[in-house]
Amino acid sequence: MIQAVRGTKDILPSEISTWHSLEELLRRIAGQFGFQEIRTPIFEHTELFARGIGETTDIVGKEMYTFFDQSQTSLTLRPEATASIARAVLEHTLLEKNPLLRLWYMGPMFRQERPQKGRFRQFHQFDAELIGSSYPEADVEIIALAYTLLRSLGLSSFELHLNSLGSISSRMRYRAALQQYFRPHIAAMSDDSKQRIETNPLRILDSKHPDDTPFLRDAPQLIDYLDDESRNYFEHVQKLLTALEIPYIVDYHLVRGLDYYCHTAFEFITSRLGAQNALGGGGRYDGLFEQLGGKHTPAIGFAFGIERLLLLLSEENKAVSKAQRTDVYIITLDDESRAIGMRLAQHLRSTSNFIVATDTLRRSLKAQMRDADRTQSRFVAIIGENERLNNTIILKEMASGAQQLLPLDNIPTLLRALDTTAVEQS
Ligand code: AMP
Repeated sequence: MIQAVRGTKDILPSEISTWHSLEELLRRIAGQFGFQEIRTPIFEHTELFARGIGETTDIVGKEMYTFFDQSQTSLTLRPEATASIARAVLEHTLLEKNPLLRLWYMGPMFRQERPQKGRFRQFHQFDAELIGSSYPEADVEIIALAYTLLRSLGLSSFELHLNSLGSISSRMRYRAALQQYFRPHIAAMSDDSKQRIETNPLRILDSKHPDDTPFLRDAPQLIDYLDDESRNYFEHVQKLLTALEIPYIVDYHLVRGLDYYCHTAFEFITSRLGAQNALGGGGRYDGLFEQLGGKHTPAIGFAFGIERLLLLLSEENKAVSKAQRTDVYIITLDDESRAIGMRLAQHLRSTSNFIVATDTLRRSLKAQMRDADRTQSRFVAIIGENERLNNTIILKEMASGAQQLLPLDNIPTLLRALDTTAVEQS
């Protein structure tokens, strides 16, 4: 038997209502913040991610699904959405029509990581990007959106970690200070660090390698290298968060290695999911658009992992969905009734929002009743020879067992019978 590729997952009908409810909530809250959906292709030119995420990152270095198509063009399944969104904004000159873009995106992402709980090779993200503003209000608006999403899901076991990477020039000074600090120790450090000291010294700080840990504790801290403008910016962000009653923890270890990140970096962390403890994160990336060949464009965004949100919801015993229930299950008892039953189903579906199911397995009355039970149907409508000849149906309410005989071709009467009971029930 052929099985699903390692690190990919089927989302089964029994799980889908949870996904739908979560997606609906994410859409609704993003809409409440004035954000609009954008959809970009699943694959892009490899170069977009190489430039937009950075050659020295793990994502680009080891995790991308890259392939050559028939015309030998190098393409990559997108590992994240920000680079694609920035590309789309530049390509369609969206900022010329509107100086501030509020965009969200939801869909599958692909990274060849080692699969484990909460970590997959195809996973889903919800992304939001606020493009065009260089003010702290934008940072806080985007954090407020992320925070509101988590709270609206009923989640509480998470912390917002916050740091400032400072302006790009203060980052450069910090980078030089790190190189200077690590250089005397580098011979004893891991191979990764030996490489990173030249390409991306900030990433050494993320290292879990035992050869590196002794040197990390006394490493210079970014906060000490922030210039006045960066400090003021960070304070302004914190003041606004406090005004909005969004709790946060300043975490000086939260860094992002890439040169085009600056100022605010944040992450939502939970202690309930084991090693994969990040629900989502984001930050300001004022240098990205230039990196992709556009004009200088301030922007900030975040991404949540949908699977991790679902894991935490189940960990916290929070349900976001109701299982789909059938309203009317149409039971037919002989060959000629079947066409009549299917026609009735079509009428009901086109004149109401009811969920209407038919058998299609030519099962016995008993087996069809069992199936109606399985789909938690509110009603069954039974059509046998008798009903067919008299142009009637038997409508039975499953909960009470109450039955009534109704005219088959009088849809309004039937809808009323279904509706009145629904109203009484609720
Ligand atoms: P990143 O783009 O790496 O900052 O990821 C943002 C969020 O996406 C993370 O906090 C996770 O919730 C989620 N995520 C990233 N990689 C994976 C993965 N391989 N499997 C599942 N979720 C992931």
